[in-house]
Amino acid sequence: GAVVELQDETRIITVSNQKGGVGKTTTAVNLAASLADLGARVLVIDLDPQGNASTALSIPHSADTPSVYDVLIDEFPMADIVQTSPESANLTCAPSTIHLAGAEIELVTQVAREHRLKTALEDYLEGLEEKPHFVIVDCPPSLGLLTINAFTAAHEVLIPIQCEYYALEGLSQLLGNVRMIQKHLNPVLHVSTILLTMYDGRTRLAQQVAEEVREHFAREVLETVIPRSVRVSEAPSFGQTVIAYDGQSAGAIAYREAAVEIIQRGTLNTAERAS
Ligand code: ADP
Ligand code: MG
Repeated sequence: GAVVELQDETRIITVSNQKGGVGKTTTAVNLAASLADLGARVLVIDLDPQGNASTALSIPHSADTPSVYDVLIDEFPMADIVQTSPESANLTCAPSTIHLAGAEIELVTQVAREHRLKTALEDYLEGLEEKPHFVIVDCPPSLGLLTINAFTAAHEVLIPIQCEYYALEGLSQLLGNVRMIQKHLNPVLHVSTILLTMYDGRTRLAQQVAEEVREHFAREVLETVIPRSVRVSEAPSFGQTVIAYDGQSAGAIAYREAAVEIIQRGTLNTAERAS
């Protein structure tokens, strides 16, 4: 396999796009599994009330499971909710439950409502002897307080873009929000990575979308493109990532390549970020 060197510092990456169905959750869990496969310790934080990331990682998340909801609303220590995925000892998950659907509203009246995830995560990481190399946050498809908590806690934003009609729709709003968070809540936040997903190279449209995105975001877009693949979409129904479900499939190979790129690129330095 490829030679990758992990850095000691934990990289906190939030996977975000306010559009639904663009591959956020698929990317969060398969990237996490790929990174774990490459030897990294990875924590996935499931911030979507639908709990699809928890499901894909085979993490129990019934209504009575201690979850991110309890962390955000009742200040549970994150250590009390994190579970290990049966796929890998390197792969852990802070699950979501259906209660999280109410958190968006409940957070509104809470003290430090934008900082709750950041504070909980910092406390958790401080208490760990072996810190994760990566924390990957799976966001819901909205720009509400859950996503704002993710943006406040993170260093990097990864935007999956589906190679379909209207791919770029809403992107300027998302980038505007990242800038707003950067200005008011989290100066280090930046869009580090754009990943083209569900790519079907046979269609002219997919090629056009990919070209256009690469033109606009030359620095952020990964070389690796995730192909549209049935294996990728089947895996969650078996409670697996595609890495475990069919590690030799085109989707699994692509996600592993994306993970290698993300490790090798490292974080953009401050000067690059400011430009
Ligand atoms: P989001 O989290 O942005 O709502 P999902 O990751 O849940 O999006 O993906 C939406 C749907 O597309 C899911 O049914 C998922 O299985 C499917 N999907 C995602 N990526 C791929 C892919 N590369 N190939 C085929 N299907 C995909
Ligand atoms: Mg999702």
